[in-house]
Amino acid sequence: MKRALEFTKPDFKAMDKPMKELESHLILRSYIVGYGLTLADLVVWATLRGNRVTSGAVKRFTNSTGRWFNFIETMYPWIGQGAAEMAAGAMKKKAAASAAGASYNIGLPDTDKGVVTRFPPEPSGYLHIGHAKAALLNDYFAHEAYKGTLICRFDDTNPSNESQEFVDAITYDLSLLGIFPDRISFSSDYFQEMYEDCIKIIKSGNAYADDTEKEQMQHERFEGIASKRRDESVEDNLARFSEMKTGSEEGQRWCIRAKISVDDTNKAMRDPVIYRCNLTPHHRTGDTWKIYPTYDFCVPILDSLEGVTHALRTNEYNDRNPQYAWFQKTLGIRSVHIWDFSRLNFIKTLLSKRKLTKIVDQGMVWGWDDPRMPTIRGIRRRGMTIPSLREYILKQGPSRNIINMDWTTFWSNNRKYIDPTSPRHTGIDQEDMVPGTVSGATDADLKPQEKPKHPKNPELGTKTVYYSKDILFEQEDAKSFKQDEEITLMNWGNAIVRKITTDATSGKVTGLDLELHLAGDFKKTEKKVTWLARDQKLVPAEIYEFDYLITKDKIEKDEDFEQFLNPKTEIKHTILADCNLVNLKKGESMQFERKGYYILDQEPKDGQPAILFNIPTGKS
Ligand code: ATP
Ligand code: MG
Repeated sequence: MKRALEFTKPDFKAMDKPMKELESHLILRSYIVGYGLTLADLVVWATLRGNRVTSGAVKRFTNSTGRWFNFIETMYPWIGQGAAEMAAGAMKKKAAASAAGASYNIGLPDTDKGVVTRFPPEPSGYLHIGHAKAALLNDYFAHEAYKGTLICRFDDTNPSNESQEFVDAITYDLSLLGIFPDRISFSSDYFQEMYEDCIKIIKSGNAYADDTEKEQMQHERFEGIASKRRDESVEDNLARFSEMKTGSEEGQRWCIRAKISVDDTNKAMRDPVIYRCNLTPHHRTGDTWKIYPTYDFCVPILDSLEGVTHALRTNEYNDRNPQYAWFQKTLGIRSVHIWDFSRLNFIKTLLSKRKLTKIVDQGMVWGWDDPRMPTIRGIRRRGMTIPSLREYILKQGPSRNIINMDWTTFWSNNRKYIDPTSPRHTGIDQEDMVPGTVSGATDADLKPQEKPKHPKNPELGTKTVYYSKDILFEQEDAKSFKQDEEITLMNWGNAIVRKITTDATSGKVTGLDLELHLAGDFKKTEKKVTWLARDQKLVPAEIYEFDYLITKDKIEKDEDFEQFLNPKTEIKHTILADCNLVNLKKGESMQFERKGYYILDQEPKDGQPAILFNIPTGKS
C-alpha cells in the first residue's frame, strides 16, 4: 500500500522506475501478492486508475501491467463500477475545468457512427507546444469527448528530413503529455498503396507527369498558366512515372501533378504536385523507393484508408480542404470530415520545426531540450508541469481565432502547480557576499532546528536550519542597512545592526556586527533579509535566468527570423545555498526565498555546483 504512493505523481517520467518495477513483478503473476485478490491489488489499481496520466493509459498497455490492470477490472466488476462512478464525476469536473472558457461544442457531424482522430507529425524534429495543441485536441475528441480512437501517424514521406531518433523522441514526448495513441502507424507503411493510387489517378486522366523547371512551375501556378505537359497521353505519363520510380537521372527531372485546375481562385487547387523523386535512403524503407508522395496526396488517402472519421487540423491547411476532398472523390474512397482550428502562436517564439532545427544546428542553444526552446522537453526542463500545460492548451479549445499568445498566463498558470510542491531554501549571491557576526545569542539560540520545508504544505516534510555567530549576507541587503537599525533575519528573529564596515574605495560593505534581539517584533521591521549560517555544508550553485531567443513579438511571413535573434539569452549567478539543497532531486522545483522558483537541472556532486534554472511565474 505504501508503494502505491509512487503512482500518484502526475508525471510519467517520475513514475518510470516504479512502473518498471511493477511490470517486472507482474510478468509471471496474476496478483500482486499470492494467488488471490488482496488489498494490494485494490490500492495499486485504484491509484493508477485515479491518476490522470495513467488512468486511460494503463488500460491500453500491451504489457503485463496492462493485462493485470484489465484483469482486475473485468474479474471484479464491482471495483470497476465504483471507480467508474468516481471517475465519471472527476471526469466531468475535469472536462468542465479543461473546457472553462472554451467551447468544445463544435458540432462535429456523424459522431454517433464512431470517432477516429489522428495526429500526423513528421519525424523531423522534437515536439513543440504547437504540436501539443494539435495532439491534445485530437486526444481530447478521441478519448474524452467520445469513446473513440486516436491514431498517431508518422508522416515520413520526405526521407531528407526524417529519422528514427525523431520517431522515438516524439513517441516519448506524447507519453509525457499523457497521450497514448491507440495505434501508431507510418505513412511509409502505405507506400505501395499510394503508388498504386497514383497509377490509378494517372490512368483515369486525373494526373500527369511534368518536367517544368521549379521556378517556371511556380510562376505558372501563380499566374494561372497551364503546363505544357498538361495534356500528354496517359501512356506517356505512365512511362514517365515508371522512369521516376527507377530514380534515374531522367526520372528525377519529372514529378506527377494532379489535374485539378489551372486557374482556380484557390491556388492550392492549381495542379498540386503529388509525387516526386528523392534518392536519400528512407529511415524505414531504405532504398526500396526512389519516389515519394507529397503531403497533399498522402494525407487524404491515408486518413480514408486508416478509418479516420474526423481530421482535426490547423487552419493553415484551410486552402487545401477542397483539394483534400477532391482526392478522395477522384479516387473513389471514403470521405473524411475536416475540422480546422487555429495554430498556436506565442510572442517572441518560433514554432516551426524547420526554424527550430536551424537554431539547434547553429549551436545557439544547447540542444532540442534547451530550456529556451519551445519544445515539450525544453519548457519542461524550464519548469513547466505537464498538468498545467494540458490545462492551458485545453482551455483554449478548438476555436478558429488566430491569436498570438503571451507567455505570461502560461507561466502564471504553472505557478499554481509548482508552488505547493516547492520546498523553500535560502541562497546568497556570492558576489561581494558580506560576513556578519552575531552577538547576544545563547547556546539554545544556536541549536539547529527542524523547520517545515514549506510554510503551508507540511507534507513536504522538514529541513534543518542552522544558526551561528558567523552568518552571510548579500551585498545588496547589507548596503541598505543603517546604523542601529532593527532588521529581521528570516526564519530566526530580529537583530540590531551595531556596526557596518565599508571599503572606502569601492563603497562596498565588507562586514557587519549584529546584536540578536529575538524579543523584537518582526512586524515592526522594514527589512526581512535572507542570511546563511557559515557552519553548515553550504552548497555552491549556479542559477540561470533566460530570455527569449528572438527580439520581435511577431515575425511576419516575409521577414527573416535570423535578423531578430537575441544575442544574449542567459544570465548566470553563482550563489551559496543552505545545506538542505542536497536533498533536491533533478527535475524538482524549489523556491529560493526572495528570489523566485527554480528547477534543479543538475544535482551537485564531485565538487561541481548544483545547476538551477529560474522558472518564470508570469511576473516581469
Ligand atoms: P514544419 O514547420 O517543419 O512544417 P511543423 O512544426 O508544422 O513543422 P508538423 O510535423 O508538420 O510540424 O506538424 C504536425 C502537426 O502539428 C500538424 O497537424 C500541424 O498542423 C500541427 N501543428 C504544427 N504547429 C502547430 C501550431 N503552432 N499550433 C497547432 N498545431 C500545430
Ligand atoms: Mg508543418
